[in-house]
Amino acid sequence: MISFKGKGVYGAVAIGSVCVFKRGDAQVRRTHVEDIRAEFERFEAAKELAVAQLGEIYEKALKEVGETHAQIFEVHMMMLEDDDYNESIANLIETQSVNAEYAVASTADNFAAMFAAMDDAYMQARAADVKDISNRLIACLTDPDAKSAESGGDKMIVCADDLAPSETVSLDKDRVLAFVTAFGSSNSHTAILARNMNIPAVISVGEDFLKSIKDGDKIIVDGHTGEIIVSPDADTEAKYCKKQAEDKRKKELLQELKGKDNVTLDGTRVNIYANIGGIDGIGAVLANDAGGIGLFRSEFLYLESEDYPTEEEQFIAYRKVLESMAGKTVIIRTLDIGADKQIDYFKLDKEDNPALGFRAIRICLTRPEIFRTQLRALYRASAYGKLGIMFPMITSVSEVERILAICEGIKAELKGEGIPFDENVEVGIMIETPAAAVISDLLAPLVDFFSVGTNDLTQYTLACDRQNAKLEPFCDTHHEAILRLIEMSAQNAHKHGAWIGICGELAADTTLTEKFLRMGIDELSVSAPFVLPLRDTVRKLDLK
Ligand code: PEP
Ligand code: MG
Repeated sequence: MISFKGKGVYGAVAIGSVCVFKRGDAQVRRTHVEDIRAEFERFEAAKELAVAQLGEIYEKALKEVGETHAQIFEVHMMMLEDDDYNESIANLIETQSVNAEYAVASTADNFAAMFAAMDDAYMQARAADVKDISNRLIACLTDPDAKSAESGGDKMIVCADDLAPSETVSLDKDRVLAFVTAFGSSNSHTAILARNMNIPAVISVGEDFLKSIKDGDKIIVDGHTGEIIVSPDADTEAKYCKKQAEDKRKKELLQELKGKDNVTLDGTRVNIYANIGGIDGIGAVLANDAGGIGLFRSEFLYLESEDYPTEEEQFIAYRKVLESMAGKTVIIRTLDIGADKQIDYFKLDKEDNPALGFRAIRICLTRPEIFRTQLRALYRASAYGKLGIMFPMITSVSEVERILAICEGIKAELKGEGIPFDENVEVGIMIETPAAAVISDLLAPLVDFFSVGTNDLTQYTLACDRQNAKLEPFCDTHHEAILRLIEMSAQNAHKHGAWIGICGELAADTTLTEKFLRMGIDELSVSAPFVLPLRDTVRKLDLK
């Protein structure tokens, strides 16, 4: 048994098996092979392994979830033996002298496209299955000894040096029991994603941790204390099982707060909204009874895509969110990439100081075609619910004036085309630079609301790169400078008839809730699992 200590970013306990995150090539490379026969043999061996893995998963699923749910693994085994599929792979290897991985990947693309184009919904759904079995085959080809993330059907604890937001979003959330990273900082987007995903996560555990684990090791992750225990003894495991049960009981108690008001003992009300990174977050928003969505990080639509999402694709996504929230407020933040959120197809230059660089609104104002596509999609979607649009990384009045002029242009355009939209969409800006907070008296008259992004506000006020784990000791999120900037922004917002919310991670810090309410903060937007604990805190406060 060995212990490590990191920083817990989502308080819950997980006990399970390690899956060391492998940063494989996302793209399968095409290589020329001389020995076609040997390549066939590699392919046959990988197929045998994939079928055996699926057989094990089928047996386990049969015992644990019953025949109906287990059947899909039987279907996958049959698909792996399908003649057309196998012939296509063999053909490619033979006629083009390519490696088996490439032959599998390109067959998968062709078959998936063919299924997706069929009229029958059942057949369309097979596109995902053919991708799934092909990914398994490729994994068996590239690393036949590796344990797959779902081996044995168990959820795994993903352990990595660090995870980029794009890597985190690409993980199959249903199979992740917890995250542990050797590096990383608590305001990083990976930590934020872990909170949103409602799973225990510990970051900054140190390099030695990775040297002490291997796939399949049993570990305990305590997201409350940041403790990690590798190969726990029976007593320790029992202690943590008890802690898990207590967490469960507390969670159940919080369920009783569903449907109750966010009101203090003296009658002060606050809106408690939730933050999401994509459509799949809506379930958690509704399950946790959030009053709305205070921050939809729209860049995740771009991160999950292989090319710029079209106006139509974005419109469908935004409309879905608005319709799912059935008239409750949904605040969608326009594209915020750059810094730690890099997207290949944007082809952004490498920068020495990316956090102080070309990101967010700076990209949108420089490349208006991208911005306009998103704004058209947003305004079109506004006809289907209660939309607010907000803009990140604002530092000046002129930026806001330029943005508002573009919005007016889009509205006029839609009107001219006879496309419906809501004339009363609220427009707001994020207060996440000290500059924006300091000139909040000049910005407030221009907008309907402010939303304080404390993650970046902390980074820029304290000059602490939020990605740099070494700076954690210097990154005092309760620093008086930050609190004063928030208070100043609140006063200026109210003076000019705007409302103010906080959507950074600090909104969920219940030790500050009283302070925020005394400042007059109107809305707190937090990761969905924090909605009910925050409601609990609010309802126990007395501001008299
Ligand atoms: C923030 O900076 O506080 C914020 C909410 O935006 P993000 O974390 O996505 O940068
Ligand atoms: Mg930010």
